[in-house]
Amino acid sequence: VRGFEGKTVAVFGLARTGLATARALQAGGAQVALWDEKPATRAAAEAEGFTLTDLSTADWSTFAALMLSPGVPLTHPAPHWTVERAREHGVEILGDVELFARTVNAAPEHKRPKIIAITGTNGKSTTTALIGHICSQAGRDTRVGGNIGVGVLGLEDMHGGAVYVLELSSYQLDLTSSLKPDVAIILNISPDHLDRHGGMEGYVTAKRRILLNQGKGDTAVIGVDDPWGARICTEITAANRRTIVPISASKAMGRGVYALNGLLYDATAERAVEAADLLRARSLPGRHNWQNAAAAYAAAKGIGIPAEDAAEHLMTFPGLAHRMETVGAVGRVRFVNDSKATNADASRQAMSSYPKFYWIAGGQPKAGGIDSLVDLFPRIEKAYLIGEAAPAFAQTLKGKAPVVESGSMDAAVRQAFADAQGSGHDAIVLLSPACASFDQFTDFEARGEAFRAAVQSLSGSAQAKG
Ligand code: ADP
Repeated sequence: VRGFEGKTVAVFGLARTGLATARALQAGGAQVALWDEKPATRAAAEAEGFTLTDLSTADWSTFAALMLSPGVPLTHPAPHWTVERAREHGVEILGDVELFARTVNAAPEHKRPKIIAITGTNGKSTTTALIGHICSQAGRDTRVGGNIGVGVLGLEDMHGGAVYVLELSSYQLDLTSSLKPDVAIILNISPDHLDRHGGMEGYVTAKRRILLNQGKGDTAVIGVDDPWGARICTEITAANRRTIVPISASKAMGRGVYALNGLLYDATAERAVEAADLLRARSLPGRHNWQNAAAAYAAAKGIGIPAEDAAEHLMTFPGLAHRMETVGAVGRVRFVNDSKATNADASRQAMSSYPKFYWIAGGQPKAGGIDSLVDLFPRIEKAYLIGEAAPAFAQTLKGKAPVVESGSMDAAVRQAFADAQGSGHDAIVLLSPACASFDQFTDFEARGEAFRAAVQSLSGSAQAKG
């Protein structure tokens, strides 16, 4: 990372991304002052050889910048004081993506990689992985990271021929101002994470930042199935020289890329042509995945991958863990891990995919809870509620579906299995929490793994008995 040689940068938040940032800063000749609110996280950083600086008592006038970890919401009480302290002392506040962007921008033209940046409320990881798959199948040297897998600064060094496929959250975009993506995607926008952004306007503004520095030769891919995306699309159409590709999974359009009944159409040229039959794809079920496929196809074309190749590689995408992933079956009961569904909107996708299911849900609740899912409640054979949201969800479901407050993942899996097996017919046990995971787990991956482990111990004991 360039730009901070000989200076000191405060780094707040020492999980994976924070530490990768610290290493990258040090490698670039900067000093770092590291701190985290959690003693355990601090201890882990020390164990890796880092020295800590208590930022609450430090002299802020010595810092050139404050690096905030992307997982820490700005409204969280802890970063709040760091943000205030930084502002008081005129210290610039940055995220890891900003450091990455500055480094890329400083590189000579022939060393500058292509950047495809993806944001949206839902489907970011799927679309990012799908684009990564298409690019690498098309023979491009591809690095996938950001908010998925490895943070941007943990990715291997760039070179001119490489393609960086980056998933960016609105948290990260809030702290990024220099990124200039060759292809920027805003998949969809719906109310989520409003707590940090202080309402819908702030959230939409954060998402729009992905388009900030685009110009001639760049491509913006915008989902127009929601009113916010549709508005962004008309506003930038009026203003810019970049190529704009609207995408839809619900309607035919005179231009852009859209999917109807599982068929993908490319209407970016004179007339619409059928580009792919998504119903034949290995891992793109459902309309929401058609939106992801439309975006991925448009993005691949945006960096010069031939349309036929992009369409062909959509077919072989293997799919992602924790997204409607079948993790096992015991007898006639199939277990589906959709731990990635951290809000009601995301859970809707999985819940609408099964006519009946035993539902494991709950965790750290999001604004609005599960009220918006009421039309799907008749599909719930029974709900097994875990985490902080359990009492409130039980109240919402009362009289509409049978409910038990299970508390833990293990208990929920055991109870759901007993009921599902007792039904005597084919059954689905679906973990699709509609909540964040942080009350009981480090992240949604850990929650999905806990589900997988609980399912495995069931099949272990079923075998033992059998
Ligand atoms: P993100 O990274 O944005 O959280 P994921 O690709 O991990 O999104 O998917 C999260 C959840 O959202 C999954 O449960 C999936 O079923 C659902 N989902 C996937 N794509 C979309 C989409 N385009 N629109 C709405 N929901 C989606």
